[in-house]
Amino acid sequence: MQFIQLLQDNTTLALFVFGLLGLCVGSFLNVIIHRIPLMMIYDWRQECSHFLADQVDMPREHTQPLTNIVANDQPITLSRPASRCPHCAHKIKWYENIPLISWLILRGRCSDCKAFIDLRYPLVEGVTALLSVLVIYQFGVSGTGLSALVLVWTLIALTGIDFDTQLLPDRLTFPLAGLGLAVNSQGWFVSPTQSIWGLLLGFLSLWVVVKIFYLITKKHGMGQGDFKLLAVLGAWLGPLMLPLIILLSSLLGSVVGLILMKKQGESRPFAFGPYIAIAGIVALLYGSDIVSWYLGMYT
Ligand SMILES: [Zn+2]
Repeated sequence: MQFIQLLQDNTTLALFVFGLLGLCVGSFLNVIIHRIPLMMIYDWRQECSHFLADQVDMPREHTQPLTNIVANDQPITLSRPASRCPHCAHKIKWYENIPLISWLILRGRCSDCKAFIDLRYPLVEGVTALLSVLVIYQFGVSGTGLSALVLVWTLIALTGIDFDTQLLPDRLTFPLAGLGLAVNSQGWFVSPTQSIWGLLLGFLSLWVVVKIFYLITKKHGMGQGDFKLLAVLGAWLGPLMLPLIILLSSLLGSVVGLILMKKQGESRPFAFGPYIAIAGIVALLYGSDIVSWYLGMYT
């Protein structure tokens, strides 16, 4: 408790401590981004094989191969198995796993096979540290500040997972929505009523857009995960921030989408979740400033 008091009294120290914490959390977020999709695939395969085993009308020689494969699947969790180099399976030692610093000392290469380590690992660590500092600078060392950190960290994980797999796992979005309702039952960001309206309108607003888009083009533009993510942000930041988040994410998504289309010359599956998450972080940190600046232009 004395340490928290010290951090509350000394802003520079608080920013430094939370910057370091951000680096370590960023390192853990890299694990989450990599492993949660693998854990989901493991679960799906297990369910699939259980389902197939129950199908009495299917020939055994059709269902047995998958059951055999699944029986040999190694369970994967966030802590097991230990991290390895994806190229040579060299087991990564603790001193090779210090956020950012190890990457700099190893000059971005595996200590064993010298293959390049993906730039995203130090990038996620650096961005997490930077955003942690901004959150604490904006909200202080308080319940609001610490819960805002949890929101931002989870949004970073969701961004990475959606970018890789076009999935926004319920096992992250549902608890995050629950936490948003819980912190706002204390009115930390918005009132409890606004939080509930934010959740509902966040889900419905994108749902309506997608239905209209589908009626016109007969194409599915977005996944359900996108509605759920906007509902999460509504629960945290209230319905008044939703127009800003939708506007920012559409702008950002269109710009990046156009650049990618020009570069790759085709429309590949496009994850919209990262732009909603980035717009959500901007709205969390600077939303009220942007809205009052915008409204000020008309008065
Ligand atoms: Zn290696």
